[in-house]
Amino acid sequence: MSCNCNHANKAIACTVTNCRNHCDNADFCSLDRIQVGTHEMNPTMDQCTDCQSFQLK
Ligand code: SF4
Repeated sequence: MSCNCNHANKAIACTVTNCRNHCDNADFCSLDRIQVGTHEMNPTMDQCTDCQSFQLK
């Protein structure tokens, strides 16, 4: 897959296309780093975790 995003961070794969930081043409984040957290007191599965660097497009 070719990537047309100059800032694609190949270390952060992401499919959240609604996010302003997503590379439109490839499933990567364009940020150098992201913050991951949780909205649960006791996270037990992947659905409990969140990318807290998300910004709506
Ligand atoms: S900030 Fe988070 S949700 Fe947005 S593109 Fe990057 S990894 Fe995906």
